[in-house]
Amino acid sequence: MQFIDLKKQYETLKETIDAAISKVLNGGDYIMGNDVAAIENELAKYCGVKHCITCANGTDALTISLKAARIKACDYIFVPNFTFFASAEVISEMGAKPIFVDIDEDTFNISPKSLIDQIEKLNSKGKQAKAVMTVDLFGQSCDYENIIKIAKKNNLLVIEDSAQGFGGSIKGRKNCSFGDISTTSFFPAKPLGCYGDGGAIFTDSDDYAELIKSLRVHGKGSDKYDNIRIGYNSRLDTIQASILMPKLKAFQEYELSERNKFADIYTKQLRAFVKTPIVPYGFESSWAQYTITLKSEAERQEVQTALKDKGIPSMIYYPRTMVQQTVYADYKYEGKDLEVSNGITNKVLSLPMHPYLKEEDIKTICEIIINTLASRP
Ligand SMILES: *Cc1c(COP(=O)(O)O)cnc(C)c1O
Repeated sequence: MQFIDLKKQYETLKETIDAAISKVLNGGDYIMGNDVAAIENELAKYCGVKHCITCANGTDALTISLKAARIKACDYIFVPNFTFFASAEVISEMGAKPIFVDIDEDTFNISPKSLIDQIEKLNSKGKQAKAVMTVDLFGQSCDYENIIKIAKKNNLLVIEDSAQGFGGSIKGRKNCSFGDISTTSFFPAKPLGCYGDGGAIFTDSDDYAELIKSLRVHGKGSDKYDNIRIGYNSRLDTIQASILMPKLKAFQEYELSERNKFADIYTKQLRAFVKTPIVPYGFESSWAQYTITLKSEAERQEVQTALKDKGIPSMIYYPRTMVQQTVYADYKYEGKDLEVSNGITNKVLSLPMHPYLKEEDIKTICEIIINTLASRP
């Protein structure tokens, strides 16, 4: 069994994907060919956002977004303590200062209450942050109703890192539409992946869109060889854009619903035995990961070993929070400020999740988990 079965997906879509790649190879427009504009249109439409600008990967998408939002060295940005490293990395790389915020243990996403606490703490030192970077972790939207309210009240831009969230929604409103600027990643294992690196930036603002298009090509002006600012080289290859077309179609037609079908089976089978992920009313996740929480590290170890013995892969997302990373060892915080996120890293376990699973596979996985827990003293 595969944790994420990319080969199975390719076998299923092989004919259209091979044809798409072949068309690009024969066409010769390997950079910024027609397929790039075409997929940008489709992605913008799907997410319900005015502009989509693709780029080289999800990390660049964040960097370019921060630049477009005019984040500067020493600016403060709130970011969850429990996320993939890139979310915090891009902030620090610019010389800005991440302020780590705790998560809600039911959703793994940034806690509005903890965000308010951190805003108050910073303000009490006479300082004001510029933005909050939200992360739609494991495919699920953050609590945007509250987050956006808090952001407005405190004059914070919202940068939405939806690298894992593509396809998730709240009452039909899609992820990648909640931020002033939002981003996603097409890394192969993400909900919508390509066959290499890729990313995209979304915004309703014409001004940001202009700026982002310039930043992704060396800060170009209207004349490509007149550079009006310092930028990046960060484009999505035409071949990757062409691969995303049939993949987005499959994602809309059945992949997203299959992911949700399998997540529901996991939850029904497991919820009496372990803490299963909670999807708030009106939310739909795209299940980048299906992550359970065990009672202890020992319990997790036994479950993971039992699965491994039967040839079933599982992963720990994530073994360390941001403040538990060596590079942030000097970060100052009060223990209880980040206690949920710091306390969860030794209990979480992500199970196989992709649209080409079989119901029997999930039932087998659940049986092994349930039997392992039952046999514990
Ligand atoms: C994967 C990921 C990124 C980075 O995306 P890449 O395309 O790998 O650069 C950023 N943030 C989160 C939350 C991610 O999961």
